[in-house]
Amino acid sequence: MKINIEPIKKKDAANIIAFDYEPEEADRAEFISILSAEKINSVKISGTAAQENGFAAVNYTIYADFTAECARCACETPQTIEFSGKKYFAEKTDGKEENEDYYTPETENTVDLHKFLTEFLSLEVPLRYLCSEECLGLCQFCGKDLNEGGCGCSKQNINPAFKLLDNFFD
Ligand SMILES: [Zn+2]
Ligand SMILES: [Zn+2]
Repeated sequence: MKINIEPIKKKDAANIIAFDYEPEEADRAEFISILSAEKINSVKISGTAAQENGFAAVNYTIYADFTAECARCACETPQTIEFSGKKYFAEKTDGKEENEDYYTPETENTVDLHKFLTEFLSLEVPLRYLCSEECLGLCQFCGKDLNEGGCGCSKQNINPAFKLLDNFFD
């Protein structure tokens, strides 16, 4: 989906362009790799573009609902990412390419929402996913999911140096 920002470039432009874009199922594979996800339930961008402070500006919200692997216990865990932002549109000649408040469309006056969505979503992907902050992970010795209960390995395999400390705190 593309939006034409030409009508909102004039300083006195009063029109507001509302948009709502959700990629087709066939284009979801790209988001699997962007998000390091297992399965995409929904990914979308919505917002409005209008004249603001002499610039065509876009206010947007990006939302993704998906499942991903927990970095500790490897279970498939539901995740959501949602954030809002604002960008002012600049021409290639404005010299504002390095300013993160500005966005320069590849084609003048045309914003490709798919590209916009992938670009800004990829900046918000966390380094890792957890099923819960308290996830205990897997036992490093027997591989048991410690969220389901202890396994008895920890006592036997404990590093002798820590054993000393163990006694120290008794
Ligand atoms: Zn986990
Ligand atoms: Zn174990």
